[in-house]
Amino acid sequence: MSTQFSPLFTGPYYLSIAGELIEATEFTPVFNPATGEVFAHAPNATGVQLDQAIAAAKAAFKPWAALGYDGREKYLLEYAAALEMHREDLARLLTLEQGKPLKTGAQREVDLAIQWIRQTAVRRIPVEIVEENDNHVVELHHTPLGVVGAITPWNFPVLMALWKVAPALLTGNTIVIKPSPFTPLTSLRFGQIAQSIFPAGVVSVVAGGNELGPQMTAHPDIAKISFTGSTETGKHVIRSAAASVKRLTLEMGGNDAAIVLPDADWDSIIPQLFWGAVGNSGQWCVGVKRLYVHSSFHAAFVEAFVNYARLQTLGDGFDPETKVGPVQNKMQFDKLRGFLDDIKAKGYKVALGGEVDESRPGYFIPVTVVDNPPEESMIVQEEQFGPIVPILAYDDVDDVIERTNASPYGLGGSVWGRDTQAAVAVANRIESGMVWVNEIHTQGVDIPFGGQKQSGLGTEGGHEGRLLFTNPKTILIKK
Ligand code: NAD
Repeated sequence: MSTQFSPLFTGPYYLSIAGELIEATEFTPVFNPATGEVFAHAPNATGVQLDQAIAAAKAAFKPWAALGYDGREKYLLEYAAALEMHREDLARLLTLEQGKPLKTGAQREVDLAIQWIRQTAVRRIPVEIVEENDNHVVELHHTPLGVVGAITPWNFPVLMALWKVAPALLTGNTIVIKPSPFTPLTSLRFGQIAQSIFPAGVVSVVAGGNELGPQMTAHPDIAKISFTGSTETGKHVIRSAAASVKRLTLEMGGNDAAIVLPDADWDSIIPQLFWGAVGNSGQWCVGVKRLYVHSSFHAAFVEAFVNYARLQTLGDGFDPETKVGPVQNKMQFDKLRGFLDDIKAKGYKVALGGEVDESRPGYFIPVTVVDNPPEESMIVQEEQFGPIVPILAYDDVDDVIERTNASPYGLGGSVWGRDTQAAVAVANRIESGMVWVNEIHTQGVDIPFGGQKQSGLGTEGGHEGRLLFTNPKTILIKK
């Protein structure tokens, strides 16, 4: 089975089902967000093909689980090596379909995904003795679940999918991946590569329309859904999965705050905060979506932030000068225009950007800085998922914590201050799954990543995240 890529990326692309590369009869156009033009067509799986992929994953499950950790580790490491051989191609394809800058965005995403597989491959979940006395011994085992369904979004299509693949396979499950219809191509390619490594049925990739999602979440032969996407869709997943009591990990929306405390060395952290908000064109679940800056230096902060932002070129991800790419799709582009219209209509102060160049092809939203909009404004209350940054002033730390927590979301957040202990005390009061203190967006295979409130259920990564791909099973043995 060939895994050679066409250098042009126009296709053909194949579904990966039961170890075979399958041609489709129906296709979805895939757009280059930098031009708004169709550059390839992705195969659409039918409902029958999805059923075939799930049946193949079910058949592959027992022998895959029987390999044990050491056997599965070998496959995962081989897969990482095969992906490495295609890293340039995968990164270029990612820029084409997603829009992110090639070197600082796409290459980094592919490399992080490969590293994630390698590091996950050597992790283990040992049997624990939870009680032992003269009468008995109690062992806690963690057994694989069966077939995992992975449903992924369009913002980090490679990383979000492989974040699921590595721990699911390591712990002995098989997996069927359904990528976003906006960014199916990189997943189809890494699925193609997987067919040359794993036994048939262990990894399948079925691209297609949104309707495949509900079919997966309702399917009786899928034991767990690992979903990354919007909170609204996540609620559909919960409802649908209830019928067969599926295990769920849900990584959903966020409205993360960054709090710059009164004693912060604010000048030096502007690049970190800027990229925390505008990296990946703001299309980041844990992106800084509201920035709270102490009023004693708020005006100077906004000015310095804008000056830094002016240095960053907006453009096609293939242009080496580009630091900020387009947003990924027309739907998101229109949604962000809605935010800009609201900002304009309400007369909020715009310190930078604010106007879309309508003559420019592609989905380019200029980096926009909104100077102290009201707390109740749409840009503060809703998840923008784009390069529009509200910088709010505050006077009182208790008040800013209350404003931060007054959100249905609770994904991430960050706190910045010279007095680390005081900053940690603020972090402890933030109702979210992850809070960074004087750093931002550090992640790793041993760091649990997940949200509180309506941002998620369970975690990815970390021992906790890996455990969620297993059933706890207690064995009680009389001595
Ligand atoms: P989305 O919810 O529209 O789509 C996500 C996936 O769900 C896609 O594959 C889609 O085809 C599928 N889907 C659609 N309807 C479905 C249904 N009824 N049942 C099952 N699956 C269905 O999200 P998106 O627009 O692709 O991604 C953006 C959102 O994802 C943002 O809200 C962002 O915050 C969130 N996100 C969260 C994380 C995280 O880790 N918490 C990471 C990335 C993105």
